[in-house]
Parts: sequence; structure tokens; C-alpha cells
Amino acid sequence: MQKIKSLVTARKEFSTQIKCEEHLIRIRWPIGVACPRCGAKHPAYLQSRRKWQCNACRYQFSVTSGTIFHKTHIDLPRWMLAVWLMCHSPKGISSKQIQRELGVTYKTAWYMTKRIRKAMRHDVFEDLLCGIIEVDDAVVRASGDGTPSGHVKFEGKNVLGVAERGGLLRMFTLEDLKTKSIKRVIAQNLGEVQEIYSDAASRLFFLAEFGSHQSVAHTYDEYVLGEAHVNTIENAWSLFKRALIGVYHHVSAKWLQEYLDEFAFRYSHRREKSTMFNLVLANCEC
Ligand SMILES: [Zn+2]
Repeated sequence: MQKIKSLVTARKEFSTQIKCEEHLIRIRWPIGVACPRCGAKHPAYLQSRRKWQCNACRYQFSVTSGTIFHKTHIDLPRWMLAVWLMCHSPKGISSKQIQRELGVTYKTAWYMTKRIRKAMRHDVFEDLLCGIIEVDDAVVRASGDGTPSGHVKFEGKNVLGVAERGGLLRMFTLEDLKTKSIKRVIAQNLGEVQEIYSDAASRLFFLAEFGSHQSVAHTYDEYVLGEAHVNTIENAWSLFKRALIGVYHHVSAKWLQEYLDEFAFRYSHRREKSTMFNLVLANCEC
């Protein structure tokens, strides 16, 4: 699949609605167009309307039907560029910056980033996490609703990170970091586990129920014990906290999970940057 490495190329590749539709068709239906409703193959193409009609259920659909791009007043060239920018900004990109780059209103930019994050989440949450797993928690600074005098009020939010070493990362906002809450998330997200590593907090001792568990005692300056460490997640925390300050400035507690999903997507695929763009398109059906 074609890799678009620079913004100049992206602007050229996605300069018209038709070029964007062609790209999206290749990603969405790599083995031929199929009806999004019933899955039937070989629908009839209605040339003048640039739509297909399913021979089985008669549903008429376009390339954007049932995707995050559907029923919006935003043209596909702008959508493609927004996806490209979000995937190719290593530290993330604010809605304000998207607004400037695409010449849209802030409200539109916010709406676009919100929908694109949904596709990113879809990718990160598709399968259960397997193999060598790291679990760690952190407190992240999010903004509340603000005080009557207009000052932004910050609060610490509990976040749990679960990562496949060398694979996917997932992050979750939690009301509290009690064993019961953490265990619920772990049970829903782990598949076949080889090893689980965490720090030595007693609330994480239950991890042994899910596989061979080893911990490192951060309180005693113990960070690596052979293969046992949580460096993947520790590294993710520090990058995310830096992005919160440097790129997003303040993220409200209400939207924190969405920003975590976007970060987790970018971090999970950091070694294969050029495929991120097509991964978002491949997960655009939501
Ligand atoms: Zn159909």
C-alpha cells in the first residue's frame, strides 16, 4: 500500500474528492466492494451518483456510508488531511492547529478530531492483548470545569496503562485505583498471556491470577530485574504528560479518555509511522 510521507505529497494525493474516494475504496474494500449492511459482494455501480446498490438487500451506499466521514458537511480532502496530520504529528496536534491548517472553524476541527479518535480507538481495542504484558498506573493532570473567576482548575485523574511489549498500548481512566477496578479492566482486555510485569504495589498482586507475574519495587529504586520492568508504559506516561502540557495545554477530565486513546494509537504504532494513516482509514467504519 502506498505510503504518504510528507504533507506536500498528502496535499497533492488528496487534492480532489475523487482522488480521496479512490484511496478510501482501496483501503476499505481491498478485495472488492461489499455492501456495508449485508456484506453481499459485487453491488451494481451507479455511475452518475457515485454510489453502489446492493443486489441482495437493495441498500444504496457510497464509499463513506457507515464511516466516521459519513453525513458531514466536510469534504473528503479535508478529512484525509486531518487524518494525515493527526497520524504524522509525533507529539499530537491540537484542534486549534487543525483549524489553522485546514481553514475550518474551531468547532469543525474539534468535531473532526473527535471522530478520528474514534477510529484510532477502534484499532487499538480490536483484539485482546497477548504475550508479555506490562501494567502500570499513574495520575494525570486534567482540567475541571473552571472556577467562576474563569481560572482553569486542575485535578489529578487516575489512569491505568496495559501494554503488550512491542505491541499495543491501552490506557484507561479509572474512578479509583483499587484492586477491584483494576481487575475488571484487566479481565476485559487480556488474552493469552506469557508474563505480566508491574511495580510492587500490593493492589496489583492479583495479576498472578492472569499469568506468571513478576514485579519490580520502584519504592526501593528497583526498575529492571532481568526481563521484568514496566519501561514501555513508564515511557508512554512521560510522553503523554509532556503532550498534555506542550500540545494540548489543558485537556478536560471529560475528554481525557479520548486523548488517551489517540495517544495509545500513536504510541502503539510508533515503529510503523507510515502505516498509521491507512490504519485509521481501515478502522473508519464505526
Ligand atoms: Zn446488502
